[in-house]
Amino acid sequence: MAIITTDLSRPGAAHVDSYWAATAGEEVAGADPVRADIDTDVAIVGGGYTGLSAAYHLARDFGIKAHVLEANRIGWGCSGRNGGFASLGMGKHGYDGWAARWGETEAHRIFEMSRQAIELVDDLLKREAIDADRTPSGGLELAHKPNRMAALEAGAKRMRQLFNMDVKLLDRDALRRDFLDSREAYGAALQPDGFAIHALRLARGIARAAQKQGAHLHGASPVTGWTRDGAKHLLRTPGGTVRAKRVLIAANGYAGDKLHPSIDGRTLPVLSNIIVTRPLTLAERRSVAWQTYLKIWDTRNLVFYYRLLPDNRILFGARGGVEGTESEHRYRRAWMERRLKEMFPPLAAVEVEYFWYGWVCATYDKNPHIGSAEDGTVLYALGYLGLGVALANYAGQLVARKLGGDDSVNYGALLGSPLPRFPFPPLRRVYQRIAYSGFAMKDEWL
Ligand SMILES: Cc1cc2nc3c(=O)[nH]c(=O)nc-3n(C[C@H](O)[C@H](O)[C@H](O)COP(=O)(O)OP(=O)(O)OC[C@H]3O[C@@H](n4cnc5c(N)ncnc54)[C@H](O)[C@@H]3O)c2cc1C
Repeated sequence: MAIITTDLSRPGAAHVDSYWAATAGEEVAGADPVRADIDTDVAIVGGGYTGLSAAYHLARDFGIKAHVLEANRIGWGCSGRNGGFASLGMGKHGYDGWAARWGETEAHRIFEMSRQAIELVDDLLKREAIDADRTPSGGLELAHKPNRMAALEAGAKRMRQLFNMDVKLLDRDALRRDFLDSREAYGAALQPDGFAIHALRLARGIARAAQKQGAHLHGASPVTGWTRDGAKHLLRTPGGTVRAKRVLIAANGYAGDKLHPSIDGRTLPVLSNIIVTRPLTLAERRSVAWQTYLKIWDTRNLVFYYRLLPDNRILFGARGGVEGTESEHRYRRAWMERRLKEMFPPLAAVEVEYFWYGWVCATYDKNPHIGSAEDGTVLYALGYLGLGVALANYAGQLVARKLGGDDSVNYGALLGSPLPRFPFPPLRRVYQRIAYSGFAMKDEWL
């Protein structure tokens, strides 16, 4: 029951063969491997949104020029291969779960933080002129069964009452008339917040902005050993040792158990998979009344997420697979092709041109966490599940404020709660199998 990690023995691995990698343009220039020993204030392990946003904000707001150590290419992990949905939410429990655990006031605050996370990404796009194909704001949550409309209705009412959000409910006919016609959509909630982007262009855009502010980015620089020498942390990479006063662990689902004791046995990387079709013709789009570039997801626990890309391809994502074996991936690709065509029968002849997957980071309580160890000289930020486009960037900014000496920074009850260890960590894949069977049963039969 392996918990995967990045393959540290093959530094600089190429990006997964994704639509994003094929259309993102140039790699980030100047992200050279570590070639000699380095002394620095802050070292950051992981060159995804968390690490890049932290490096950017540290340099821009505090003049701290951190060194980012990325095992592969910049944005190689989830940040360069996700669905690109910048969405509201934090963890798996939602408003009721937050209110039950921390009370209404804190639940309100958690929600507002997730809103700020989306605004932060929007602000980064504008401020740094990052061309990441931002879609118009908003998104559609589809009821994948008729009985899910009640929950969408209750959610919409609450959003209106508590957060003054203009969530509109659409019945099946309105959905078909104005957005799309899926066999598995019985209505929807049209939410005003959030948007979608090109995942890898966002990662590279933040990386370049961080460099411009003076941050040092190193690709092909896996941290293969970590020791202490007095007050300094010694991070071993193939090209040299990085001596740092403070270290941010920003390796999320690719960290594995060996990197540092503060995260050992505390993460569970789970697969998310994406297929992308060839561009649809106008006639094909009309055949399913697909008239929107908004991001779309459904009410499943094992959520289906999809959207039309700027060149009219369908990007369709789904959870599934446990071990990440080649046969699992082959099965998953075929299953996703079949499921897409079951949702949109007129598109049965549309070929799929890309399939890829990545490891989303789950924690035992299914919440993201920011925390510290070793007298505050080691920080970590991880566990965003499928919400890291907004949250990882936001967490990166929060830890930058902390490292920059801003004592007013407050992670709040959810992000700041201790990162729990899984009971009997070797059984993590067993827990996952059990949870997935329960989710699949609820999604299809309840
Ligand atoms: C298929 C898929 C679809 C997704 N869709 C969405 C979505 O639509 N919306 C959303 O909000 N979220 C989505 N997510 C999740 C989101 O992408 C992540 O939450 C987010 O990118 C996490 O960013 P990160 O920087 O923390 O981690 P990552 O981007 O995973 O970066 C971690 C990096 O650490 C590096 N690393 C690991 N170990 C070491 C080491 N020892 N030394 C040096 N480097 C190391 C890795 O190589 C990796 O590049 C999706 C994820 C996947 C896989």
